[in-house]
Amino acid sequence: MKKANLIILGAPGSGKGTRASALCEVLGIVQVATGDLFRNNLKNGTELGKLAKSYMDKGELVPDDLTAAMVEDRLKNPDAARGFILDGFPRTVRQAELLDEILSRKGEKIEAVLFLDVPDEEIVRRTSGRLICEKCQATYHVSYNPPKSDGVCDKCGSKLVTRADDKPETVLKRLDVFRKNTLPLVEFYRGRGSLIRIPAELSQDGVKADMLGLAKQIGLAG
Ligand code: ADP
Ligand code: ZN
Repeated sequence: MKKANLIILGAPGSGKGTRASALCEVLGIVQVATGDLFRNNLKNGTELGKLAKSYMDKGELVPDDLTAAMVEDRLKNPDAARGFILDGFPRTVRQAELLDEILSRKGEKIEAVLFLDVPDEEIVRRTSGRLICEKCQATYHVSYNPPKSDGVCDKCGSKLVTRADDKPETVLKRLDVFRKNTLPLVEFYRGRGSLIRIPAELSQDGVKADMLGLAKQIGLAG
């Protein structure tokens, strides 16, 4: 398969993480989720993790330079050589510019930007009831995507918890930040001709098949 560098854009709770991981399986590329990278840093007690937490708990964005440096570092890992999907980055126009610089230093570019277009009511519904595996970060939803056994991760058997920033007030703040800072990226990438809109209606069961169809449509899978 062709090397694919992709971005997935979508509001918090739009299901971008689930779609990104399905696409990674289909294409054999890695998922680079900045939220997960920050949470891993926090778990490992790094300075970056502690700093990130102070923003994340309020539903605010971690500063652009710090975030971009973390992404650049992550993309140096050999597992990104076959391609990657950025999940949660860029989230501001400044980050998109920094990403251009990072990629030009690597002699690479983004093939496509997938935009998950989900109505607000749906976002609020999906974010409440979201569960995350404390070990492998797999996500579930109590009603839309429940684990096979209550409170336990299907993939690794660890405990499922509610994310600290999934409190209703914080979700509203994150949505607001998304609209103000991240939504302008839709036009930014549309202007470059790399935007692909994905309607929100896709079912959870069909995610993998849908993502394979999408990969074919954009010429990344045969
Ligand atoms: P969601 O997409 O559901 O909001 P994430 O796990 O992607 O969840 O992000 C959680 C939090 O991590 C964000 O609210 C923000 O504080 C921080 N974060 C993640 N990615 C970025 C980024 N690219 N820039 C700044 N902050 C980020
Ligand atoms: Zn797990």
